[in-house]
Amino acid sequence: MKKNKRLFLIFGLIFFSILSCVLPQDQKSKIAVTIDDLPLQRIDHFENNKLRKIFDKLVKNIKSQRIPIIGFVNEMKLQVKGEYDIRRIVLLKKWINAGLDLGNHTFSHPSLHDLSIEKFEEEILKGEKITRELLNQNKKELKYFRHPYLQTGRSLEAKNTIEQFLSDHKYTVAPVTIDNADWIFASAYDKAIDSNKTEVMKQIGTEYINYMKSKIEYWQGQSIALFGRNINHVLLIHANTLNAEYFPELCKMIRSMNYKFVSLDEALHDEAYKSNDTFIGNGGISWIHRWAITQGKKKDFFGEEPQVPKFIMRYSGINSE
Ligand SMILES: [Zn+2]
Repeated sequence: MKKNKRLFLIFGLIFFSILSCVLPQDQKSKIAVTIDDLPLQRIDHFENNKLRKIFDKLVKNIKSQRIPIIGFVNEMKLQVKGEYDIRRIVLLKKWINAGLDLGNHTFSHPSLHDLSIEKFEEEILKGEKITRELLNQNKKELKYFRHPYLQTGRSLEAKNTIEQFLSDHKYTVAPVTIDNADWIFASAYDKAIDSNKTEVMKQIGTEYINYMKSKIEYWQGQSIALFGRNINHVLLIHANTLNAEYFPELCKMIRSMNYKFVSLDEALHDEAYKSNDTFIGNGGISWIHRWAITQGKKKDFFGEEPQVPKFIMRYSGINSE
């Protein structure tokens, strides 16, 4: 009897291991969420208490989702009138204490297309001082760099020089596949808050989630068109009031599209990120299109990208995406 039981167990184990090889392990697509312009976009628009409240809400809502997140810091935003302000540094400490990661987004958010190589390198080093120290205090390493405006150089020489500089300083470039204009919705949202328009705020929030869904669908399609499959994605959003409020809704929508949230490390394991990229255009476009342009794809490949609704554009006061 004992022998039969053991045999039964062994056959059972063999059966299940064969089954797990035959069936797909994980049919979910993968996405990493990255948040730029920490501690907050338009930080000087908010007095200190308000800033703290928005930031606390952002961290609380992110934490509630139990997913890996990396935030990219502009350390100039830790200063008030040219001096580092401990109240702003505390915000980053809260971020790290919530188990979230940080990366470098330069000191003052300049475009590589407007600066000399030397000045841009200074911006990278000046932008890492506090972030690196805070991470090290928590036994974490500063690893990722994100180009402001996703502008990576107007010549291959500039692009390669900065990439070499980053690599010499042990940085990995953080690419973006799901590019979007969340910041336009965020600007409209802040205006609605300032004028106490609760209904407009709700409308902007709803439109924002719909727009992000259409963007993810679009980039999925572009990924399949280029690679024949949905690659691991990297989503870019910004630190602002809109995302502080709507982060759980955004995650709910993304989950409903059958995505699993992964770290940036894990997302970048996808072979797609080894694709050649010689893009030197001015636009801060998705890496999927950089790879497509590098491969010489023609105009019809790029199709119609979803646009920000006109009323959001008008309300935000921003002229173009
Ligand atoms: Zn930025």
